Amino acid sequence: MPAAEGAPPLAYSRILLKLSGEALAGERAFDFDKVKQFADELAEVVNLGVSVGLVIGGGNIVRGSQLAAMGMYRVAADYMGMLGTVINALFLQDVLEKKNIDTRVLTAIRMEELAEPYIRRRALRHLEKGRLLIFAAGTGNPYFSTDTAAALRAIQIKADVMIKATSVDGVYSADPKKFPNAKRYETISYRDVMLEELGVMDQTAVTLCKENSLPLIVLNIHERGAVARAIRGERVGTIVT
Ligand code: UDP
Repeated sequence: MPAAEGAPPLAYSRILLKLSGEALAGERAFDFDKVKQFADELAEVVNLGVSVGLVIGGGNIVRGSQLAAMGMYRVAADYMGMLGTVINALFLQDVLEKKNIDTRVLTAIRMEELAEPYIRRRALRHLEKGRLLIFAAGTGNPYFSTDTAAALRAIQIKADVMIKATSVDGVYSADPKKFPNAKRYETISYRDVMLEELGVMDQTAVTLCKENSLPLIVLNIHERGAVARAIRGERVGTIVT
């Protein structure tokens, strides 16, 4: 959808939004009210005229490393995790379509009865047509994370920025839930994130972003309008460059 005439210029025209599976969950794996609120936020973003790719996690359903710690073979557990992200993607698609947002789910593991396979050129075409893309099944490979999938897809679709929507409002020097005196950064470099071993994303994802000069904004998904404000260039959360 083109931006409204006379609207102020946006800081970014194409974004990759990473949403963890837990953002969809409440007491159960799916919290409809929470997701409907998120869909409203996304509708606002799409209406700004921004092209949006979304990578959804699966932590509300299966985390491969946890099953592996309980004795499962890691590869099988990770495939279960990736399938969990597909379940989340279909759920999100349904909610977004009810808000009249045109979406396509693209999977990194083929399952063509229910979604298109990820083909980069096709993804670009969808984005040009103003469709919101939900990238599911992570990278398609065990031993990776959906943060790494998000960094990969962001680079592949030439996103201007990756936005990681989490339950905290930025990057802190330590976990703010455990250490109330932890310092919040307004900006930080990937180098410092790596040196200080800050738990922003796994190292693979951080390296991919750093090597491809892809900026990352970490913000709180529960803060109303935060994603739209970040796209307008307002200072929201932490920016990592
Ligand atoms: N996963 C994987 N390869 C990928 C992406 C994800 O094996 O490229 C698996 C992994 O087991 C992971 C699970 O899918 O634990 C769910 O993804 P993630 O933990 O990244 O979800 P989030 O924490 O963002 O909800």
